[in-house]
Formats: sequence, C-alpha cells, structure tokens
Amino acid sequence: MTAPCEIRQLHAAQGAVIAIKSRPPAKYSPKPAIADSDGNQIHNEILLSLPPKERELLLPKLELVRLKTHHVLHEPGDTLKSAYFCNTGLVSILSVFPDGRSVEVGLVGNEGFVGLPLVAGLRTAATRAIAQIEGSVFRVGGETLVEIFPQCPKLERQLQQFSQIMAMQVTQIAACNRLHELNERLARWLLMSADRVGSNSLPLTHELLAQMLGTRRSSVTVAVGALQKAGLVTHSRGEIEIIDRRKLEKAACECYGIMLRQVEEWHREAR
Ligand SMILES: [Zn+2]
Repeated sequence: MTAPCEIRQLHAAQGAVIAIKSRPPAKYSPKPAIADSDGNQIHNEILLSLPPKERELLLPKLELVRLKTHHVLHEPGDTLKSAYFCNTGLVSILSVFPDGRSVEVGLVGNEGFVGLPLVAGLRTAATRAIAQIEGSVFRVGGETLVEIFPQCPKLERQLQQFSQIMAMQVTQIAACNRLHELNERLARWLLMSADRVGSNSLPLTHELLAQMLGTRRSSVTVAVGALQKAGLVTHSRGEIEIIDRRKLEKAACECYGIMLRQVEEWHREAR
C-alpha cells in the first residue's frame, strides 16, 4: 500500500499540481511489513492478522497474481476453483442480469477476500468479481483452502467474519442504489474505493463509474463535474483525485458512515 506521504512525492515527481487537504483514507493504518517466501510484500489485512503458525501453514499455498483492470476472477455460475486474498488494487462484486446489464453490489480491497461461498462449504459463484483498479491478489486453490481450515481456525473465523461484512455491505448498497441520488452515491463510492486502495488518487474513467453505479456515462460526467465544481475532487485523464475528504464525506449519503461504523463495531467485538 502506498502511504499518503508517498503519494504526494509520487505526484510531485511527475510534475502534477496536487494539494491534498484531506486526511488519509479511513482505513489507512501502517502495519509492520511482512513478505512471503518470494519477497512479495503482504498488504492483505486478513493474512496480516493471522497468528504466525497459521500464516506459515498458509503462505506456501498462496500464489501472487497481478491483475489488470477488467480482469474477471469469476462469473455467476462458475465453479470456484480458486479464492483470492486481495493485496492491492480494487475488486468489484457485480450483480449481473441476463441482458448483460450489471450493477455493483460490493467492493473488496486489501481488507478482504473473494470466494466466500467456499467458506460456507459451497462451490458456485453467484456474482461477477472483476478488478476495477489494477493490483495483485494472493490466489489459493479452493480445495486447498477448505482442507487447511482445521489447522487454521483463526483464518476460518476471519473469513466468516468478512462474509458477514460483505453481506452487510451488499444489503446497504442494494438499498443505496434504490434510494439515494447519483451525486451522493458517487461520493460514497469514491470514499469506499479510496479506503480500500489506501489512496486518494483513483484511476477511474466515467464509463467505469457508470457501470459501477448502474447509470449512464453522461449522468456520471455531470455528477463528477458537480463534485469538481464544489472543490471536492479533481478529474483529469482517467483519474479522480479526492482533494477534500471531509467535504466529500458530507456530500455522500449516510450509507458510507453506516457501513464504516458497523465494521468498526464488529472489529471491536471480535477483539
Ligand atoms: Zn446511500
């Protein structure tokens, strides 16, 4: 994960004008660096939270896979041969309709995992999982994961808890898609994405945002323009930069805060 100070340095080096007035993404919390046996740094919070004994058992069974934008991890109806601990980047969970339309119902970054039906002993995907911001995942075989659970009770419990977090998130986003205005949903989506990639700079096109928010590209262009005019974000060359996070939080619907508070509450309960 790139720390906020590193983001500033990166943009300065590229000659871009940038003024981050906001605080860091909500989830940003520096952790000690841990790498797998190939030297790949681990950012996934589930892997980082495991006791050393469980991590030593699991790590040799993981393979780091680089994901480009639009890489599909699974489609509805697919047999889940693999599962993924998201390490960097952003994965969207989409509900897909027979006519090809889709709308996003969940977002997974380095806090999470893709392949949750396996945790409940199920094998078939019900959604599409697709990389929206390029990054990397640690891939594990589905059978391998299930076989290791008896030796890794903390891992199994962590994945069960993440399953509940995703269920809560999907429920909230379903209501949000039905009840809240596009501008509010866009602000909520940008905040959620920034939290998950650990950066206020998001490589996103209007077309991608339209797919995620289940609306037309022209509507997204108007909504992004409104946020930009209000001084909350800047947008250029397929990149949206959050420049005033506090104001963006005020512009977002209440769904962002509801989900954040629920996850924090569950994290407190789980300690
Ligand atoms: Zn909402």
